[in-house]
Amino acid sequence: MGRIAVLDQNMINMIAAGEVIERPASVVKELMENSIDSGATKITVTVEDGGRRLISVADNGCGMDAEDLGQAFEPHTTSKIRTSSDLHNISTLGFRGEALASIASVAQVRAVSRTKDSAGASCIEIDCGNKAAVTPFSGDYGTTIQVRDIFYKLPARRKFLRTANTEMGHITEIFTRITLANPGLDMTLVSNGRELYRLAGGQNTGRRIAELFPPDIAENLIETESEEKGLHIFALLGKPDAARTNNNFQYIFLNGRFIRDKFISHAIKEAYHGLLEPNRFPVVFLFTQMPYEDYDVNVHPTKIEVRFYNANLVHSQVLGCLREKLLGTNFETQAKLPAAHNRSQEINNAMAEFFRKYRPIQTQQQISFGTKLTDRSNPEPAGIGEETLNAVRYTPKAIQIHDSFIIAQSDDGFIIIDQHALHERIMYENLRRRVSAGKLESQRLLIPESLELTEPQANAIKNNVGLIEKLGIELVPFGPKTMAIQAFPALLAKAEPLDFVRDLIDLLTDKDVNSDSERLLDEVLNMAACKAAIKAGQRLSSSEIEKLLADRQTTECSSRCPHGRPTTIKFSLGEIEKQFKRT
Ligand code: ADP
Ligand code: MG
Repeated sequence: MGRIAVLDQNMINMIAAGEVIERPASVVKELMENSIDSGATKITVTVEDGGRRLISVADNGCGMDAEDLGQAFEPHTTSKIRTSSDLHNISTLGFRGEALASIASVAQVRAVSRTKDSAGASCIEIDCGNKAAVTPFSGDYGTTIQVRDIFYKLPARRKFLRTANTEMGHITEIFTRITLANPGLDMTLVSNGRELYRLAGGQNTGRRIAELFPPDIAENLIETESEEKGLHIFALLGKPDAARTNNNFQYIFLNGRFIRDKFISHAIKEAYHGLLEPNRFPVVFLFTQMPYEDYDVNVHPTKIEVRFYNANLVHSQVLGCLREKLLGTNFETQAKLPAAHNRSQEINNAMAEFFRKYRPIQTQQQISFGTKLTDRSNPEPAGIGEETLNAVRYTPKAIQIHDSFIIAQSDDGFIIIDQHALHERIMYENLRRRVSAGKLESQRLLIPESLELTEPQANAIKNNVGLIEKLGIELVPFGPKTMAIQAFPALLAKAEPLDFVRDLIDLLTDKDVNSDSERLLDEVLNMAACKAAIKAGQRLSSSEIEKLLADRQTTECSSRCPHGRPTTIKFSLGEIEKQFKRT
């Protein structure tokens, strides 16, 4: 007697449900996707107790007649594909014909549906796989599916459900993804009788984002679009300042389907390279469209992953589209002043403090001024009021404070510059330009400096002679395990040659031979820029300050240091006046 038996159909469904129906949010996803596939223009999702007690999705789509309604909850039944060739051209969200059967095997389900041309609706009830007959019912066009007490006969799975709040969080996330992909549709989410979202149809994506997300995410997104080789990209890009500590705010869509994709995520990361600190993730809404036959959706039960046939093309095009936009945008960090209404006293104090500090520095002449210094014969400090504003307006255009920051007047307010961060960016861009034009100009050292090397270090040098030469560094053997630095780049005059070369060799030794040479060069230039840049705590002459400000105007990406930190914080007069209650 063999031990192997064929499982009964309900067991098969329950096992399939294990793959697609993880929690109430999975039900919401499958039902909303079915509604979209049915051509609905209005979808209402109602849940109770985080979906644990009830999930109901009602739509005004094409509906099902009595016969189809009887079929829909059987396993492997679908109206969306017929033959294997259809599998290569899937334009619907569903196609596996598994969702309704899976859901009905693990909960109490009631579905009411009516097509446009039928006189009345039909209803079917299924309790954990036990199906009753289809009965006539009264109801409007479209379909309503109610799912109650999910997993109630499966205590092991029921136990894994989290609190209503947590489950509600997952449902809201699914709702958000689907509504973002379908801004044209009218969609509502109701929880325990309370309307959480009522999104009107016919919205554009920006408007929908504004309804779904708080202002710090939804505001100031930069739009970009590209169309090439059949791939259409539309993206709303968060500014570097709005970046987060995880990638929860990266929404990637392919032909209306929310996906996770490592190629696209990597392209996004690369696009923001140098604009963000390494452990930050930008807010990005990315909508891609391409022919259905250019990828395979049949690789994951919930279809959250796809397989691109030409992943490199997708990667390079997303990277190109985003990078171009980001590099062409000047991101200035706007000062975040506390809200005026509840903290006005604190703000007044802070501003008073600022102006108080500003004055003594000016009169002590610790800092260098531009040319427009006025009326130094009247050092009497003014109170905080009319006179102070006048004084600021007519004072020099830039000052250094704490030997670290430059404060400069701008067209519509003032800016604070981190002198090291800004100079680092200037040096970096300068180095990059020169290296890509050939090599850095080098200068002979009067007395060569020598350093001893380990075997791996000597190898690292051998493997990177080209790069070292590009940098304008001349190393010559000087004894068995010793090298001498004979020439050093003029541009890095501020750096200590021995120190620099040691760090360079360390960096090269850490990298394996196959590492991306562009990346490596970038890291080296980063290091060089950092070492050669003006430091915090370094007092600058007026001409140095002027030079810094002038270079800022002509340098690309000057609002961020090469590591992605801001170089400049902006205070607008409008904001300042508001804080002082002048407007
Ligand atoms: P799939 O979506 O993969 O086809 P499902 O099990 O989700 O499989 O649905 C089975 C079938 O039931 C669908 O192919 C569709 O014909 C029908 N159906 C499901 N939901 C709806 C709906 N809201 N409106 C109209 N038809 C629906
Ligand atoms: Mg489906």
